[in-house]
Amino acid sequence: MKTFRIGGVHPAANKLSAGKAIEPLALPRQAVFPLSQHIGAPATPLVKKGDTVKVGTRIAEAGGFVSAPIFSSVSGKVNKIDSVIDASGYRKPAIYIDVEGDEWEPDIDRSTTLLKTCDLSPEEIVSRIKEAGIVGMGGACFPTHVKLSPPAGCKATCVIINGVECEPYLTADHRLMLEKPDEILVGICILMKAAKVNRAYIAIENNKPDAIRLLSEKAKAYAGIEVVPLQVKYPQGGEKQLIDAVIRRQVPAPPALPIHVGAIVQNVGTVFAIYEAVQKHKPLFERIVTVTGKSLKTPSNFLTRLGTPMSQLIEAAGGMPEDTGKVIGGGPMMGKALMSTDIPICKGSSGVLLMNEHEARRATPQPCIRCAKCVSVCPMGLEPYLLATCSAHGDWDRVEHEQIMSCIECGSCQFTCPSHRPILDNIRLGKGKVGAIIRARNTKK
Ligand code: SF4
Ligand code: SF4
Repeated sequence: MKTFRIGGVHPAANKLSAGKAIEPLALPRQAVFPLSQHIGAPATPLVKKGDTVKVGTRIAEAGGFVSAPIFSSVSGKVNKIDSVIDASGYRKPAIYIDVEGDEWEPDIDRSTTLLKTCDLSPEEIVSRIKEAGIVGMGGACFPTHVKLSPPAGCKATCVIINGVECEPYLTADHRLMLEKPDEILVGICILMKAAKVNRAYIAIENNKPDAIRLLSEKAKAYAGIEVVPLQVKYPQGGEKQLIDAVIRRQVPAPPALPIHVGAIVQNVGTVFAIYEAVQKHKPLFERIVTVTGKSLKTPSNFLTRLGTPMSQLIEAAGGMPEDTGKVIGGGPMMGKALMSTDIPICKGSSGVLLMNEHEARRATPQPCIRCAKCVSVCPMGLEPYLLATCSAHGDWDRVEHEQIMSCIECGSCQFTCPSHRPILDNIRLGKGKVGAIIRARNTKK
C-alpha cells in the first residue's frame, strides 16, 4: 500500500467521534465573522451597523485576487463592525451580527436532491467558486479559485482529493465521506471540469475502511475517479506528502507549487462546498467541526454556522470538563492553543480539542542529545534541531539558507524529540521572521 517516502510519524489516532453522525448545531445568539479567514488580503465589509441580512447574504467582498468574500451564516441585524481575537491569537477586524430567525436568501436550493449535471464551462465554474467564497477547508484556507487559475506554462494533469484526515482526533472529513459520498463525487466531477483534467484520485488512509469501501463502490459510476487507499502515516494530508504518496511526484522547494508537477489538491470538505456552491447556489457559510477530547462527555461532529463561538460547540458536546488543561483549535499536531472559547468558527476551523491536564502538561525541555530523530522524521527532509537552534539565536540568514520556509509546521520533529525540545515553537518564530524579510526584499525589487 502506498505512502509518502520521506519521514513521518505514527501518533495515536484517538478518533473518538468517528462513529458519531453529523448533527446540525443550534444557531448562535450572535455570529462573529473575522474579515481575515483565508490566506491573502482581508475582505472588505459591505454592511454597516443596523443593516439587515439573511443567511447567505454577502457581507464582505474579496480584498484582492488572493482573497475571498464572506457570507452571513445567520439572519438578523448587524450589531457592529469591531475586532475579535481569532484562533491565531491576534485581534482582527470582524462583523458582529445579532441573530433573528433563520431566513435564507431565496436563490439557495435547500433541497437534498442530488444534482448531477453541470452545464457550466470551466471558467464559469471557477467564477462560481470564487463568488461563493470557497477556500481550502483542510485548514490552509487558500482561496480555491486561485488554485484553479494556474500560472502561465503550468497545466494540471490530475486532481487529488484529500480524504486522509491524518490529524489525530479529527473526524469531520471521515463523517462527510460516509454521509455525503454522492455530493462529493459530483463535486469532484465539477472540479475535474474546472481543472480541465480527466483523472481524479481520492486518497484515504486505510484506518477508514468504511469510507474506502463506500466511495470505491460509488466511484464506479463516475469516469476517471479512483479511490487510493494509503498506509496510515502522519503528515500524509500535507499537500506535498499526498502528491508523493499518490502519484510519486516531488514538489520542489518554495516558491514551487503542486501545479508545477501537474497536481491540484483539494480537501473533501472543499469539494463538498464546491458541489453546494455550483449546484445549489449556496455560498460557504457553514462547515463540519469535530469537538473532541478524552474527558469530553460526547465527542461529536457538528454542522456549524460560521461565526458560532467555540463555547457553544463545547456545551453541545457535554460542557467543558473540569480537568481541561488546554483548548486547541484543530488537532493536537498542527493545532494551536486557544486564548478563549469565545473565538468564532471560521472557514478553516476543522476541530476543537479539549486536552485534559495530564495531556496538556509539557515536559521540561532537556539539552539536545544530537540523536537526529527529528531529522529522520521530518517529511520535508529538513534539519529541525538546526532550524530551531538558529531561530532561537536569531540567525535569520542561516535559517533561510537551510530552507526554513519549506517547513510545513507538521510538528513531527517536536513529537518525536526525546529531549522535549520546543522545536516547532522556535521554527514558527523563525518562519515568521524570514517570511517578513523575504516579503520586504521582494517589495524593494
Ligand atoms: S515541523 Fe517542519 S521541521 Fe518539523 S518535522 Fe515538520 S516539516 Fe520538518
Ligand atoms: S530529536 Fe531532539 S534531541 Fe534529538 S537531535 Fe532533534 S532536537 Fe536534538
